[in-house]
Amino acid sequence: MAQIRVHNVRKDFGAFNAVKSSTFTVEDGEFFMLLGPSGCGKTTTLRMMAGLELPTSGEIYIGGEEVGMKRASERDIAFVFQMFALYPHMNVRKNISYPLVSQGMKKAEVAKRVAEVAKILRIENILDKPIGGLSGGDRQRVAVGRAIVRNPKAFFMDEPLGALDAEFREHMAQELRALHDRMGATTVYVTHDQLEAMQMGDKIVVMNHGVVEQFGKPQEIYDWPATKFVAKFIGSPPMNFLEFDGSLGTGGTHVSLAGHMVRVPMSREEHTGELALGVRPEHIRFNDDSAYRGRVIAVEYLGTTQIVTIDTPHGEIKARTPSHQLAHVEELIGLDFDSRSLTVFNSVTGAALV
Ligand code: ATP
Repeated sequence: MAQIRVHNVRKDFGAFNAVKSSTFTVEDGEFFMLLGPSGCGKTTTLRMMAGLELPTSGEIYIGGEEVGMKRASERDIAFVFQMFALYPHMNVRKNISYPLVSQGMKKAEVAKRVAEVAKILRIENILDKPIGGLSGGDRQRVAVGRAIVRNPKAFFMDEPLGALDAEFREHMAQELRALHDRMGATTVYVTHDQLEAMQMGDKIVVMNHGVVEQFGKPQEIYDWPATKFVAKFIGSPPMNFLEFDGSLGTGGTHVSLAGHMVRVPMSREEHTGELALGVRPEHIRFNDDSAYRGRVIAVEYLGTTQIVTIDTPHGEIKARTPSHQLAHVEELIGLDFDSRSLTVFNSVTGAALV
């Protein structure tokens, strides 16, 4: 078990800077997500943490020891990859035993450890089966079994569920999280799926173009996005941005949207110019008395809630409201925003001001 500390880590591939100076800490026993769109540098970051890639500069510590220049085999860690990487000519038992046998562990001890792991993963019944005949889920369990059998300091997982279909993926995600809760091993997990990151992670690093945009607990990142990029990447439908020219003073608590005063949380920074009011779809309410009005463009019924697309003086926005609050296409409706949950961004830099 170990804390992992990434300090000012940078990676260049020739002239291309894939990861800019990154700093964050994975606490001992955490399930930690590296999240971002394709090409943002999350796999490169994971590979540097695991010792499969050397950083161009910066330091990486595992359990207090600086390991930046050590190879993966010298770091006492284990991997689970998307493509499972099992040995097809060996049965399940041999696949799981392999890391222990290659360490020279005694036969009786190997058998004991494999039995324990098989019990944890509930795969006792397939131990003697060949890999070829297994379902995707069972292969995934065997790959996890091979990783956990050694009891390493930390686990590294790169989109381990990427090859599974959506329904099964969610089931396996729950299994992996439950397994982590039983074992408590430090785990670093790469995904581009924000929902998976929110559901599974204790903490999340959100990356974009090689930059760590934000690092924190799922709820902090959802409620207090540090940048417009994070606000848009997390949540579905994403946060709405009402762009306007205006000003927000230090300690300011209101912004004027086309003359309509909207209460916002206290600001940290002063800014006059292009601003964006960030509103999550679930923080918009219909209110006949509100002077801020928009025209309903579309209503998407989802059972208990509905997604209502509304044309406002500041562009199209999406509201998630209870389905019983009827909204009809072409109707003009008054809108209220839940002031505790609003964010104001500097539209040019994308940085949050409140
Ligand atoms: P994906 O989900 O698509 O794998 P990612 O966020 O994991 O994306 P990385 O694989 O870390 O992104 O790649 C980040 C950038 O670095 C990409 O532009 C990629 O093309 C580039 N890159 C990665 N590995 C190399 C390499 N060995 N040589 C050159 N460029 C590389």
